[in-house]
Amino acid sequence: MTLAGKTAVVTGSSSGIGLGIAEGFARAGLNIMMNGIEPADAVEAERARLEALGGKVLYTSANLMDPAEVRGLVKAAEDAFGGVDILVNNAGIQHVAPVEDFPEGKWDAIIALNLSSSFHAIKAVVPGMKARGWGRIINIASAHGLVASPFKSAYVAAKHGIVGLTKTVALETAEVGITVNAICPGYVLTPLVEKQIPDTAKARGISEEAVKRDVLLAAQPTKQFVTVEQLAGTALFLCSDDAASITGSAIPVEGGWVAH
Ligand code: NAD
Repeated sequence: MTLAGKTAVVTGSSSGIGLGIAEGFARAGLNIMMNGIEPADAVEAERARLEALGGKVLYTSANLMDPAEVRGLVKAAEDAFGGVDILVNNAGIQHVAPVEDFPEGKWDAIIALNLSSSFHAIKAVVPGMKARGWGRIINIASAHGLVASPFKSAYVAAKHGIVGLTKTVALETAEVGITVNAICPGYVLTPLVEKQIPDTAKARGISEEAVKRDVLLAAQPTKQFVTVEQLAGTALFLCSDDAASITGSAIPVEGGWVAH
């Protein structure tokens, strides 16, 4: 079975891991609905670059903290392409602070985007996937979906939550041609990680260079950042026929981090 001509929604694909996965999908000839919080004109160059690689590529700006905007994103893809075959729940944010100082608004925002938006998107795409008897749902969790680090209470809670959501929906859809899996990346040098370096330095009272060396890559036995290309490859594999029996799993792509 070829993936060319199938349709994928990749949330948070204006940047970082989502953009890398969208690029991998574009090279495989998929039609793609890109998404991000940025306005369409800010993403137009990337959208056009991806479209030149393969299938049709559209972009919908949506604030996925609002469930109605999540449903709107799925509907825009269904209207444009006739259905959603592959959903990648990737949009996410981070905030780093000790739990006693953790702003309540940041907790709510991280749970809304990193966990609840995936529930709303899954709920919106599953009926169409069931009707067509085929679907792939890939949730970008994190090594922090499997283990914790200090100062990331909301993020770790949301990422553990999405691993549980993955397993539950996998069980519910196991007999109808749909697989549901989580990918658990280690550190990837994207804007999300670059932004948390100063806060981690402050929380731990160390330099930013020391954060990269002694905090981020300290957990990663390979001492290498994971690349977006490696994650795109994992996502494409999960979409393939060879991965049809992989469902409900949380796949670490983290340089050996969770082997500790
Ligand atoms: P990034 O900051 O580079 O990109 C985040 C994306 O999310 C952007 O496209 C942005 O537009 C979108 N986004 C942010 N707020 C949004 C909102 N309210 N509504 C819709 N879209 C919104 O981040 P990244 O590092 O590529 O992270 C992507 C995912 O991978 C996240 O879920 C993150 O938790 C996860 N992850 C990242 C790493 C890492 O080291 N970078 C490791 C493990 C997991």
